[in-house]
Amino acid sequence: MLKKCLMKRCLIFWLVWPVAFSLAAGDINSDHEEFAYQAKKMAETALKEEKAYEILKTLALPGGRLTGSPAAARAVSRATDLMTKLGFDLVKQEPVKVNRWQRGQTEKALVKSKKGGQHRLNICALGNSIGTPRSGLEAEVLEVHSFEELEELKQAINGKIVFFNVPMDRAEPNPFAAYGRAVPYRTNGASAAARYGAVAVLVRSMTFRLDDYPHTGLMIYDENIPKIPAAAVATNHADQLSLWLKEDPHLKLSLMMNCGQLPPVISANVLGQLTGEERPEEIILLAGHLDSWDLSPGANDDAAGCVVAIEALRLIKEAGWRPKRTIRAVLFMDEEFGGTGGRFYATSASRKSEKHLLAIEQDNGGGAPVGLALRGGDKIIEKAEKLKEILSPFGINWIRPGGGGVDISPLIQEGTLAGSVIPETQRYFDFHHSALDQPTTVHPREIELQAIVLAIVSYYFSQEGI
Ligand SMILES: [Zn+2]
Repeated sequence: MLKKCLMKRCLIFWLVWPVAFSLAAGDINSDHEEFAYQAKKMAETALKEEKAYEILKTLALPGGRLTGSPAAARAVSRATDLMTKLGFDLVKQEPVKVNRWQRGQTEKALVKSKKGGQHRLNICALGNSIGTPRSGLEAEVLEVHSFEELEELKQAINGKIVFFNVPMDRAEPNPFAAYGRAVPYRTNGASAAARYGAVAVLVRSMTFRLDDYPHTGLMIYDENIPKIPAAAVATNHADQLSLWLKEDPHLKLSLMMNCGQLPPVISANVLGQLTGEERPEEIILLAGHLDSWDLSPGANDDAAGCVVAIEALRLIKEAGWRPKRTIRAVLFMDEEFGGTGGRFYATSASRKSEKHLLAIEQDNGGGAPVGLALRGGDKIIEKAEKLKEILSPFGINWIRPGGGGVDISPLIQEGTLAGSVIPETQRYFDFHHSALDQPTTVHPREIELQAIVLAIVSYYFSQEGI
């Protein structure tokens, strides 16, 4: 069947090339074979050239892009220059006021054993944490394994450093589900412990891996409870600390961190688009977030999401496909500290004349695609099902409800349909928010496949509507 289609397609292609080429700008449903053929050709070139990885290096190699930092400002310029160079129809920055937290120079945790020895733990401050007093703080450590246990031990917490030693559940096959269950200790642990008089918290890093790298991430204070410093500890060191505590329940830990808030600054979301030829005001949005944590270049989180959005547009343009509706890449600022960029984008005056039909956010790393998740009802799934055969060579095994992301959630709340190309994520938390999230952990073919799928899906919906 496929062979027959391709033979037929080849005949048309070579005999009436200009006519055949322009068909992609028409109704895909009626020219499905034509679109399938062109998608295949586009993907062959994409896989040979692996330009997504080149874009990743441009965006990520200079380093982390912590919201509000000078490094994030430089990334905004780099992304703008890159999309301008690629010749997109419109490239612009939309300014966003963001809060600015900085890690500071000092992050030190020393365990003092009974025999007088000192052992350094690998820690990092959690994003948004206050620092310790300049001279540090020292206290006994109380290990807990759940919020329930924290409640049971509340009488013993006053004046202590609470150590939340809660591993991500290895029995859970979905890494994001395991992360979702463990991460409240990172986000809310400090205030939960401070309620009972804790002076600081240490939180086991959010990863399945046992290693020496601490993983940072956002923590949030309850404004009605005193703020205390919060740090993540590497998994190997969490295990070691737990052993030491069994030997000496009165073991002391000294902690010194000089992180803290700086005044807000103006940053920006970066937009680049291929403007629709027939309905330019109708938007298919491809999203990633340009900010990252500061411990690494954030190659998977989320330079990869920005890269595949840009590369999808580049592939569409290079293939000569001319979208009916606008396909727009938006590199959002400030996902990691709560989504300021996404909220600003959705409510900006520039949106008044626009209608967002579909928003696809990529924020699950640069791995090879395994499925397509779409939210907003059966209709969009049914429509996407028509792409199943075209997408399957690129790893899409299923199309089902789901997807979305922090940056596009304000659009979703307003009724925009949404989704994500879902990549393989079993190794994602090995790198996530740590010094290990380097470009070398992204494979050029895998990230290219993500961009190919995104190009096909976004172009399809730009032609067909929703
Ligand atoms: Zn992210």
